[in-house]
Amino acid sequence: MAEIEKENVGTVFLVGAGPGDVGLITQKAIELISTCDVLVFDHLANAELRKRAKSDCEHIDVGKSPGRHTVVQEEIGKILVNRARAGKRVVRLKGGDPFVFGRCAEEMIVLDQSNIPYEIVPGVTAALACAAYAGIPLSHREYGSSISFLTGHEDVEKESLRVDFAKFAEVGGTLCIYMGMGTLNEITKKLLKGGLAPDKPAAIVSHGTLPTQRKIISTLGNLVKDATREDLKAPAIIFIGNSVGLSGEKNWFENRPLFGTRIVVTRPVNQTSRLKLLLEKKGAEVLELPLIKILPQEDRNLIAETFTGIATYGWVIFTSANGAKEFFKLFFKAFSDIRSFGPMRIACVGEATADVVRKFNLEVELIPKRSTAEDLAQELVATNSLDSANVLVVAGNRNREVLVGLLESIGHAIVDTLPIYQTDFADVLTAPDRSDFIEKGADAIVFASSSAALSYIEQEDDLVLSKNAKKPIYCSFGTQTSETLQENELTVGIEAADSTLESMVESLVNYFKK
Ligand code: SAH
Repeated sequence: MAEIEKENVGTVFLVGAGPGDVGLITQKAIELISTCDVLVFDHLANAELRKRAKSDCEHIDVGKSPGRHTVVQEEIGKILVNRARAGKRVVRLKGGDPFVFGRCAEEMIVLDQSNIPYEIVPGVTAALACAAYAGIPLSHREYGSSISFLTGHEDVEKESLRVDFAKFAEVGGTLCIYMGMGTLNEITKKLLKGGLAPDKPAAIVSHGTLPTQRKIISTLGNLVKDATREDLKAPAIIFIGNSVGLSGEKNWFENRPLFGTRIVVTRPVNQTSRLKLLLEKKGAEVLELPLIKILPQEDRNLIAETFTGIATYGWVIFTSANGAKEFFKLFFKAFSDIRSFGPMRIACVGEATADVVRKFNLEVELIPKRSTAEDLAQELVATNSLDSANVLVVAGNRNREVLVGLLESIGHAIVDTLPIYQTDFADVLTAPDRSDFIEKGADAIVFASSSAALSYIEQEDDLVLSKNAKKPIYCSFGTQTSETLQENELTVGIEAADSTLESMVESLVNYFKK
């Protein structure tokens, strides 16, 4: 009987999530996050990681607030035990490494006592990560031969520091102090009293590995003054030791071209990731403010009818990347062979749309110089191939009429439309980073379409920036979007050269380089 019960018990994985940069998590951790039934996390674990979980995974936030540690810790133990006993596969995600000041030991003991099977997955701990991302060597053949990890958190019962810092002044080497910002003054005093020289190199790295990373390079004697002046905040690691002095003011991470900029991305929720990733690679902090949502609009009869007659069209015109993607998804549901598509000519409104079409090894014959409905229509008319020709326009619900109207009136074409998705304004009140944007503002806000720009304009009242917030420049992916912004008296700071994500990122890099 006992054996059967044991078989039904789930395993708990105590997993290190790394210090912040999602790329610093282990492959094992990713695999566990994407297969677990329950994900228990606190504020130090990057929110992006949670998106990897299964759609039916239960997310439990046990974010600790200071002073409530004991109660919450007990509750966490209970949650882990209860979920495992219910047969669930549980991941307890912890910032950095679970065994470095992460209270993993307590959770492990509870699991042991409750006879719950568990595994422990290490993570990149904050001291190592902050050192690497701030260019601070922790050891050096001549300047540092030992590395100590210490906590600056005071002992709640004794109202004193837990670590005898004066003794560590004798130990020397490189000291890496976690949770020390609240007691920085006391720590530096004790180290000086213990015999460390005031000119001993010292540094602080806050929000390490994140786009908001900040660091100061100082000396033990000046550390408190410099940290106060620079207003450095927790979470931060304090480094003290001779090898710390080998770090320069700047470093590879902070030298990336968009480091220190805040850029708002307004694409629909499921489409933000690639632009976000590209911007983050260049060092930007990306805020998500989805302004539109895209809903598939599938009139099955119309789609079946269109596909049946697809080979009769002289031209097929794609007016957006979304439309093209959705079109081919449906097409390959209906046909397994690209030869069913037919010998028609293809036009696309811009490069990004054409890229989608080219993925199927189809040649795009026409892309207008400016990405507007008018330019597309005029350049098509100039090919002298429209008169009485059958033309299919694959489009969303916006900006379709202008194109169709012109093709019919000046091109004398016979136009069918295939509405394939619907663009609606997304409610900014539910946007993930709205309050952050309102409070601090941003350097740039990026609009990928006219619809996004119109949605912004309509909802501006819900996005009024606070007094000290940075005012963003407006960036557009193409002519049409720029025109929409200008018609509404918003100055366009940047227009992407060819409407692709890459060119938008390049334009932003060039702009902020100045
Ligand atoms: N288990 C974690 C440490 C948890 S204790 C680890 O291995 O990293 C919390 C402390 O970790 C914070 O007070 C701070 O000192 C440090 N810390 C965590 N993430 C950090 C980050 N991104 N940048 C700087 N310090 C960080």
